[in-house]
This record gives sequence, structure tokens and C-alpha cells, in this order.
Amino acid sequence: MINNVLVAGGAGYIGSHTVKCLIEKGYKVVVLDNLITGHVKSLDGEVKYYYGDIADRGEVINIVKSEKIEAVIHFAASSIVHDSIQHPDYYFTENVAKTNRFLASLLMGGVDKIVFSSTAAVYGTPEFIPVEEKAVAKPVNPYGVSKLMIEQMLDWMQLSYGMRYIVLRYFNAAGAMLDGSLGEDHLDETHLIPLILKTALGQREAMKIFGTDYQTADGTCIRDYVHVLDLAEAHIAALEGLDQGFKREVYNVGTGSGFSVRQVMEQAKRITNINFLVEESSRRAGDPDVLVAKVDKIQRDLGWTPRNSQLETIIQSAWEWHRKHPLGYRGDFDAGK
Ligand code: UDP
Repeated sequence: MINNVLVAGGAGYIGSHTVKCLIEKGYKVVVLDNLITGHVKSLDGEVKYYYGDIADRGEVINIVKSEKIEAVIHFAASSIVHDSIQHPDYYFTENVAKTNRFLASLLMGGVDKIVFSSTAAVYGTPEFIPVEEKAVAKPVNPYGVSKLMIEQMLDWMQLSYGMRYIVLRYFNAAGAMLDGSLGEDHLDETHLIPLILKTALGQREAMKIFGTDYQTADGTCIRDYVHVLDLAEAHIAALEGLDQGFKREVYNVGTGSGFSVRQVMEQAKRITNINFLVEESSRRAGDPDVLVAKVDKIQRDLGWTPRNSQLETIIQSAWEWHRKHPLGYRGDFDAGK
């Protein structure tokens, strides 16, 4: 049984929730994070934390050996779509080149099991909804390309060196720890639900709907929102799958149902009881009309099923976090991150 797990990028949004769930399940967790986007304050006291970069070969091999690491969950990445369009070279360095070094270091250190966080962005604009894992992967931005390149790297690491991997393609990660103790805190927030809640808190003047002329019932984009705790559970199920001998698998992680931007806003108004200002605006580049996952494969193979991904639970938990931490992790402590 796997016991010692290295979580790269464990101080980030999805990473920190996964770390918490791993600890609750009794795993020994070691985190490696360079804090470019992560927050050390999001880490549980029981975690052994290393400040550092996945590309630092000496440090990775040192961690793997001294902590007797048996498997890795790899979240460390830059993940802002519009940023990736402005700085593709940065994304190919941060995500692809660094992961290449990371994988080589892991192999040198004797680790042969990895769970990798990928994204629905690898599908680009899918032809069929719900999207199946075997759909054509044709990303439309450098972020999606970088994740797809890593998926392909992993497959060759499996074929050539026997590294076992499970790729999880997340749909729209959202929500927070149910008691509001951990949550989403990005310096440059671009995601719908946190932006709505910041608007409800009066930190922004209005919410913009990016496009009202999509091919959907109310004209706004439809997305498959999955609770961050369900994502965390998916990583643990994937670890167990690797332990049981899975070698090279790719899974969508979503719910199979979608909500429009207007529906999300309406639900947020009900939950917060705040009638924040909403403005209709033009489309944002690169947004497909509808993105909803087919999730049969992960349910069948890993027995994973979403438990907290009702839109209400997602928004309620995120609201809890935002109300308790209006300035994010920085607001809680004097010493910055
Ligand atoms: N969106 C919006 N207004 C905003 C932020 C997002 O209308 O201020 C829309 C966006 O166009 C997309 C959906 O909300 O259709 C979800 O966007 P988000 O950035 O949260 O996730 P993405 O689908 O890009 O991964």
C-alpha cells in the first residue's frame, strides 16, 4: 500500500485541499511548492513542506530518497489561459520543460507512480457533448497545449521506462473546504465563481457576463462545475488505482451536468442574498459554448463519484471561504504569504 506521497504544487488551490484529504485518510504527505501561486498558510501543520522547484533535480532526488516517496501527485503549474496566450514561452518552460526535468528526477529517485492534473482545456472546442476521454484533443491555447504535451510525455515515460500514471482532466474546479477554512485565492482572479463572490462582497463593482449569444438555452456558456473536495477524492482514488496496478489511464473529472453563467449568477444571488450588479459584455476569446464531461470511465474504473458538487454546495462553501477570508490568505496573517 502507498503511504508516502509527494505533492508537487501542494500549496495551491486544488493541491491544498487534496493534501488535507490525504492526511485525513492517513497518508504521510510531503509538499514541494515554489510559492509562485501557492500559499504556505494553506498547508496543514502535519505536512512536511519543502520550498523549492520541481525542476531542481538535486532537491527532488533528495526529497524522494530522504522521505521514501512512493508516489507523486503533480499539481505544480501555471494555469491562467489568457496569460498563456500572452506568454506561451513561459508556459512551455514552467509546465512542460520543468515537468520533463521533474519526471526524470523522479525516475532517478526510483518513483514510478504519478497522478497528473490535466484539464478539459486539452479538448479545445469539443465536437460532441458530453466529452469523452477518447475525443480528439485539440487545445486552443498554450495552457491546454502544455498540459497535453505533458500527457504525451507521461505516456512515453510509461512505454519506455515503465512509469505508471493516471491523468485527471478537470472540468471547472470550484468550491472550498466546507467549513471555509481553505479556499481559492489567486492574485489575478479570472474564474467565474470567486469573481462573483468578490463582487458580492463589494470588492468589485459589477460582474460581467462574457457573451450572451452562445448556442445555449439562455445564450451564456455552460460549464461542468466540480467541487474541489470531489477533485481531491479523485486524486486519492487515482493513487489507489496506481497501487492496484493501473498503468496508463486518462480520466475526465466532472459531474456530467452543466450550468450556464446566468444560472450560476442566479444561484449565487440566492445564496449570498446580495443582488450584485450584472452587466452583459462581449465574448471572451477561446470560450466554447458548452463544456460538460462524460464521467462514466472514472466511475467505472475507480469507483469515484462526486459527492459535494451540487451547485448550491459549491457556491455555499466558496461563499463561506470568501466571507471568512475577504483578503484571502494574505488577509489572515501579517507576514504576507
Ligand atoms: N465568465 C464570465 N464572467 C467572468 C468570468 C467568467 O461570464 O467574469 C464565464 C466564462 O466566459 C466561462 C465561464 O464563466 O464561460 C467559466 O469561466 P471560468 O474562467 O471560471 O472557467 P473556464 O471555463 O474558462 O475554465
